[in-house]
Amino acid sequence: YSGLMEEPLYRFVWHSISETGRWQGEMANSHKDGTSYVEWLSIHTLKDELGLVSHYIAIFSDISERKTAEARLVYMAKHDVLTDLPNRILLQDRLTQAIIQAELGKCNVAVMFMNLDRFKVVNDALGHLIGDKLLQEAANRIRETVRACDTVSRQGGDEFVIMLPNVIQTGIVDTIALELLKAVSAPYLIDGNEIEVTTSIGVSIYPGHGQDGDVLIKHADAAMYYAKKVGRNNYQFFTREMRERAQEHMAIEKNLRRAVERNELCLYYQPQVDLKNGKIIGVESLLRWNHPQSGMIPPGQFIPIAEENGMIVPIGKWVLLEACRQNQAWREMGFPEITMAVNLSVVQFRQKDLGEVIVAALHKTGLNPSGLELEITEGAVMQDAEAAISLLHVLKDYGVNLSMDDFGTGYSSLSYLKRFPINKLKIDQSFVRDATIDPDDAAITSTIISMGRNLKLKVIAEGVETAEQLAFLKQQGCDEMQGYLFSRPILAENFTRLLASARESDGQWHYDNQE
Ligand code: C2E
Ligand code: MG
Ligand code: MG
Repeated sequence: YSGLMEEPLYRFVWHSISETGRWQGEMANSHKDGTSYVEWLSIHTLKDELGLVSHYIAIFSDISERKTAEARLVYMAKHDVLTDLPNRILLQDRLTQAIIQAELGKCNVAVMFMNLDRFKVVNDALGHLIGDKLLQEAANRIRETVRACDTVSRQGGDEFVIMLPNVIQTGIVDTIALELLKAVSAPYLIDGNEIEVTTSIGVSIYPGHGQDGDVLIKHADAAMYYAKKVGRNNYQFFTREMRERAQEHMAIEKNLRRAVERNELCLYYQPQVDLKNGKIIGVESLLRWNHPQSGMIPPGQFIPIAEENGMIVPIGKWVLLEACRQNQAWREMGFPEITMAVNLSVVQFRQKDLGEVIVAALHKTGLNPSGLELEITEGAVMQDAEAAISLLHVLKDYGVNLSMDDFGTGYSSLSYLKRFPINKLKIDQSFVRDATIDPDDAAITSTIISMGRNLKLKVIAEGVETAEQLAFLKQQGCDEMQGYLFSRPILAENFTRLLASARESDGQWHYDNQE
């Protein structure tokens, strides 16, 4: 009797032995020196000729190590390895408990969704090792800031979810949120690097903002996005507008599936013009959703949703095929050959079979690879740069053109740029828009143009709306332009007319502002 286990267990053991002659199971025991261990114990009874018990034989093995390993596994299943914080599973457990408690005690539960601002920049610039240490340090600061009864969990990446149970006055939530902002944003010193990061926090409260853990987390996440949008380094409570947006999001998601089946997606085409001779040399395909009630929905409203749920993969496949088919149709009508630019999503880029999908679209439509241009963004290729570089090389060797869309808004890592086998840089429209009024944007625009020239890349400016912008771009030596000044994105039949009239006037400059 080691005293380590409850008295009734011993009685149960002896009962079993007297009834059946044996017992086996786990037991906590202690060594003579007082240290405890867990054993696997079998007890057998030995009887003499008269049938009386003469001996009990106990055989045991020390299973402490196995028990420790088991406990470790159970722990690991519920904790994050990097920060040792509870993971999402344990958070869910505790959140469910806290909600039950809150219901009984008539109090609130707060959920805070935290995301470090621009963590990826630190991670990319200083490396994963320092990124990991930063996360650990931030995790410690968060843990030290909240109350002992609160749960701080790591959801993965630079995302943390904090659960505050038993909230009686919601004022405490503001106080804790403010303290968290302050704690996380104090400078970090990691391996000799002084690093500053801030954080954005979204808050949802039970019962007002949701009845179960999943909804509360989702709504806190939506509020966090809003906090990012309004400038980062702040906290926001979930609101009714966010709820409406979340519902709209769900409605779009539901209808989008139907849209694909009902052929409600269509492509608009926007010409790209050579600035030297005013000829149409290319066209960008731009996706639209022709909604039976809402009319033409621009891609910004549904592509992010399609990226989130993966629908962008079949949609993108359709876009590729349709754009290639259309360009081949124009070629067969005898128009001068132009290049069809197709936007690729980062999600498509992550698909292993992207190369095959592109080749299949070209084969099926008979378009020469040089008639296709893929528009990629820096963010898309940076996600897995090495894999992206090798895929881009294969595509380039195959004859497909590659251009870097929205250039200047992403990481613009020059060391990578050198390794991407691209043909063209597309100056983002935000720089073009203000190039004639803001000296900084003018400087960025002309820098991109001269950089392109030095790297032997073509440069196209997008979003050109005014004659002043055009004059500036020409003066800086930009190669091509695309924008409302020449033409808005238009339907294929209108584009055909545009090509026809350009042929008649031998590529003379046309203004066509009808969408
Ligand atoms: P983007 O590739 O940078 O496309 C340029 C956007 O600028 C288009 O918006 C175009 O209509 C707009 N634009 C063109 N000229 C002007 C101008 O002079 N002034 C102004 N203010 N805007 C101009 P749109 O069609 O709404 O597309 C938005 C974004 O959606 C595109 O940006 C692209 O990233 C994405 N997108 C469009 N089609 C597809 C697609 O088929 N697949 C994928 N993955 N993304 C697409
Ligand atoms: Mg584009
Ligand atoms: Mg762009």
